Amino acid sequence: MHEAVVIGGGPAGSRAAELLARDRDVLVLEEHRESGTPVECAGLVTDDVIGLSGVRPEILNVLYGANVFFPGGGRISVRSGWPKANLIDRADMDRKMAWKATDSGAEYRYNERYISHKVADRVTVESTNGAIECSLIIGADGHSSKVAMSLGTDNGPREYVRGFQMDVRRTYEEQDMINIRLGSEVAPGFFSWEIPFGEYVRVGLCASWSAGPPVGYMRALLKASGLEDAKVIKKYSGKIPLGGRPKTYGERLMLIGDAAGQVKPISGGGLYPAFRSADALKETADVSFGSGDFSTKAMSSYEKRWKAAVGGEMRNGYRLRKAYLKFDDEDFDRACRVASRESVRSVLDEISLDRPSSVVSQMRIRDMARFLPVVLRAIL
Ligand SMILES: Cc1cc2nc3c(=O)[nH]c(=O)nc-3n(C[C@H](O)[C@H](O)[C@H](O)COP(=O)(O)OP(=O)(O)OC[C@H]3O[C@@H](n4cnc5c(N)ncnc54)[C@H](O)[C@@H]3O)c2cc1C
Repeated sequence: MHEAVVIGGGPAGSRAAELLARDRDVLVLEEHRESGTPVECAGLVTDDVIGLSGVRPEILNVLYGANVFFPGGGRISVRSGWPKANLIDRADMDRKMAWKATDSGAEYRYNERYISHKVADRVTVESTNGAIECSLIIGADGHSSKVAMSLGTDNGPREYVRGFQMDVRRTYEEQDMINIRLGSEVAPGFFSWEIPFGEYVRVGLCASWSAGPPVGYMRALLKASGLEDAKVIKKYSGKIPLGGRPKTYGERLMLIGDAAGQVKPISGGGLYPAFRSADALKETADVSFGSGDFSTKAMSSYEKRWKAAVGGEMRNGYRLRKAYLKFDDEDFDRACRVASRESVRSVLDEISLDRPSSVVSQMRIRDMARFLPVVLRAIL
């Protein structure tokens, strides 16, 4: 019998496994043949995220700001005096995090899929290789988490957005800036990105679920960015849960990462909230292993802990997202005009990528209401 079984060997599962395995017997089940494939990520992270991951992923580029392109042809450039984000090799990060968890004592079983589990005086996990018993189950099985849905069919995220991205061969002159495009033609309900890295550009977009498959907007994006004839090297797709899940814990159970809906609603970034939540998970697990109490009530302290760390950012971010969804292309263009003002620009230049809604308190409400959602997305 294991003390904890973690479902999913992605970054959230590996970080949780690494922390738990320092003093517990931990088993990780991963359905793929290794951690890190397939990649469903643009790979844009802050230094803080790299620090929290506990590993040094390969850094493909360092970015200082963004050029934001509006539907009517307007453009704003926001540049900081210091690095805002790193473009990392996400597969490399996931692999290294799994190795680090293994070094910490966790056992990984690849090509083994979680099917279901039952809770009594212990947890019995049913996987493609049979039954496994443990005291605690951690659901880190990503955006379409089966473990999360074991808590009820109403435990889905508020919404999903879908993403599609490609690496293409093209050398952008401006290597330290991301291009962001807004508007219904290229990315309805979200935004698009072009991230340069040497001889390549990572070009992608996310769109609201109701707008249909994101690949349908790729042609317009490639045209707008002048990448129509660039050679395609790689394609990726994926979906992002936004707005959180109603419950992130149950008896002998905690959810983490996309499985818990721990994603920044403005940018779709999931790594920062997942890593911050891993500490909360470890604290709750330690208390439960100490007392032997794995009841729903005992597990509820996990949700309180992770919400104290990142819940405010997620709540505020989702409020901004709802405002953003009301924007049409003309609103974006109006926002472009407001955001061009010097008084506003100085605040935007210093915005934090991991805590973007903190800028709200620094700005006049009238201005904020008109352009903030747009520009926050742009920075991210
Ligand atoms: C297009 C796109 C771009 C993104 N860009 C960024 C970005 O730039 N920065 C950022 O911070 N975030 C980004 N994200 C979000 C980020 O990728 C996720 O938040 C992150 O991967 C969540 O990590 P996780 O470990 O929770 O889930 P995952 O990375 O999805 O890992 C879950 C793991 O569980 C495994 N699994 C699933 N079901 C089972 C099962 N039944 N049994 C066993 N194993 C199972 C999967 O194989 C997978 O390895 C992006 C997402 C998309 C779609």
